[in-house]
Amino acid sequence: MIWIVMLVSASLLLLACGTGGKVAKERIEGSSLYVKKVEDLKEDFLLGMDVSSVLAEERSGVRYYDFQGQERDLFTILAQNGVNTIRVRVWNDPYDESGKGYGGGNNDIDAAVEIGKRAAAAGMGLIVDFHYSDFWADPSKQMVPKAWKDMEIEEKTEALYEYTRDSLKKLKKTGVKVTMVQVGNETNQFLCGEKTWFNIQYLLNAGAKAVREVYPKALVAVHFANPEREGAYLDYAWHLDYYSVDYDVFASSYYPYWHGTLENLSDTLSEIAETYNKKVMVMETSWAYTPEDSDFSGNTIGEGSAVTKNYPYTVQGQANCVRDVIDAVAHTTGGVGVCYWEGAWISVGTESWEANHEKWERDGSGWASSYAASYDPNDAGKYYGGSAVDNQAFFDPEGHPLESLRVFNLVRYGNDVEPRPDAIGDTRLVVDLNGVIELPETADAVMTDNSREAVPVTWQLTEAEKQKMYEGGPAAYTVIGRAGDLEAKAYISMVEYNFLQNDSFETLDLTGWTVTDLGGADELYVEEKATDSLTGVGHMHFWSAKANSVEFTLEQELRDLRPGAYQYAISIMGGDAGEQEIYAYVKLNGEIAATAPMHITSYGSWDTGRIPDISLGEGDVLVVGIYVKCQGEGSGAWGKIDDAMLNSQG
Ligand code: CA
Repeated sequence: MIWIVMLVSASLLLLACGTGGKVAKERIEGSSLYVKKVEDLKEDFLLGMDVSSVLAEERSGVRYYDFQGQERDLFTILAQNGVNTIRVRVWNDPYDESGKGYGGGNNDIDAAVEIGKRAAAAGMGLIVDFHYSDFWADPSKQMVPKAWKDMEIEEKTEALYEYTRDSLKKLKKTGVKVTMVQVGNETNQFLCGEKTWFNIQYLLNAGAKAVREVYPKALVAVHFANPEREGAYLDYAWHLDYYSVDYDVFASSYYPYWHGTLENLSDTLSEIAETYNKKVMVMETSWAYTPEDSDFSGNTIGEGSAVTKNYPYTVQGQANCVRDVIDAVAHTTGGVGVCYWEGAWISVGTESWEANHEKWERDGSGWASSYAASYDPNDAGKYYGGSAVDNQAFFDPEGHPLESLRVFNLVRYGNDVEPRPDAIGDTRLVVDLNGVIELPETADAVMTDNSREAVPVTWQLTEAEKQKMYEGGPAAYTVIGRAGDLEAKAYISMVEYNFLQNDSFETLDLTGWTVTDLGGADELYVEEKATDSLTGVGHMHFWSAKANSVEFTLEQELRDLRPGAYQYAISIMGGDAGEQEIYAYVKLNGEIAATAPMHITSYGSWDTGRIPDISLGEGDVLVVGIYVKCQGEGSGAWGKIDDAMLNSQG
């Protein structure tokens, strides 16, 4: 046993207070989740969750459970666990001509009313996210609603105002507590089919005007993505100010996989808050608790995703990420909240793609249905399917909550359990076929507090298996190990190891090599030209029009090689040599020990000189090289040298 799992018996009884919540918060007893307290977190700091897909999920049979295993209303579960605000996206008309839903929850204003009512019943406020589109609006697309397709900007502005006003009135009539309204979603310079700030300002102000009239206490938010793009947010904020757009909150999506550092986010939002006297927040964020997909429909993030990975894809990693985003925004000037995106969009079934597909099409519980093709043929119409974020939810595929859901309560108090290994980093080894497979005794663990530590690993690799690897030629293997109750993986590449530096001249210079020009050739250098190289793009080039001027050596010295037998090889091609003397050679401690004659004949005819059975003792200095001497004829001797190799023979 290499670490101690602390079983914390302390219990906290947290009761909702001050925010008007009717739901008693979850009793947290001995949670194993490590949570570093967010200092000075305001009582009214917005801890939000977008659950826009929930109605469609429930139509598809999804059920949610609390930590006691009782089936419960999702909103109650979230409120119990510290979420105080629900976010819902609204599309004008996400249905085709025959009334088939586009998917993504089929969220029109009626769906938002239902979700808002249930949020209110659980004591939570609502952020209304108007996309002003009939389907997904994001930095790559802001398609105009079907009904507004042929409108000029004046008419569209009026339509947007009336639509916003009437939609909010519907919400108000049912007693929904709307705390914030977004005029547009991730509107990086585009909105509702408009592409100029001059036109967009009218739309934003029309939306804001409707919010002020219907919900005068609600905050008006603008929402952008890609805080990592240098200067972009300051440019948006400048334009909003220049056109006197009426808004309260400058909101950002922040997906840590792509969106730069938290420090950059915080600095950028602070500057906007200070310059323009605005509130700021993270409107969308998420982190994967597992790389695995659970609904047969590919996810945005998986094992091999080429993204910034500051946290492991574990339940604890998800909690640490959320905690750090909350901490960053809470300590940003004007920071009012953090909203997690679609934390309950789990699999609609574990049986098969076909069974799930039927539900996604029927209920709109996938990110898009095939019916979306009529509106968005290039994206949704082609790639429609299920949840792309089921591995970023706070519920497992059966609807049971993950321990990470407790983070929204625990950020206020901290949960200082003893850090322990949470995930083991991969070990990667390149081993010479004649070398020794030596797996390290430790591997890098990501601890539950997101620090890194080396921990002991026991590898499951028998001597017989090792022998097979030595005898199996160049190949790749995965070896499994255990570090306590965690799995470790070692990826081993068995290779014919080349001990030479810059063996194929791909550094495009003489790194590792020494050239001695004995004849005064016109040209003698490393050249970049793929068609003249044996492999890659670099090779050693020589040419000289003067007779008897091509004479040189090219060599590399090696010290501290393990004693044993080695083999050396190098290749050459060329022509117009006339009388020639070319050979590969090896020197041992300054003395020529072996040579192998070589010849150049014509373009593309490579000749390889090989010297096997080079026996090295302890402390021997080895030099490998090639000697080239050409008398020259016609237009002058020329040639190319490439791909030197020095391998162990055991
Ligand atoms: Ca999926």
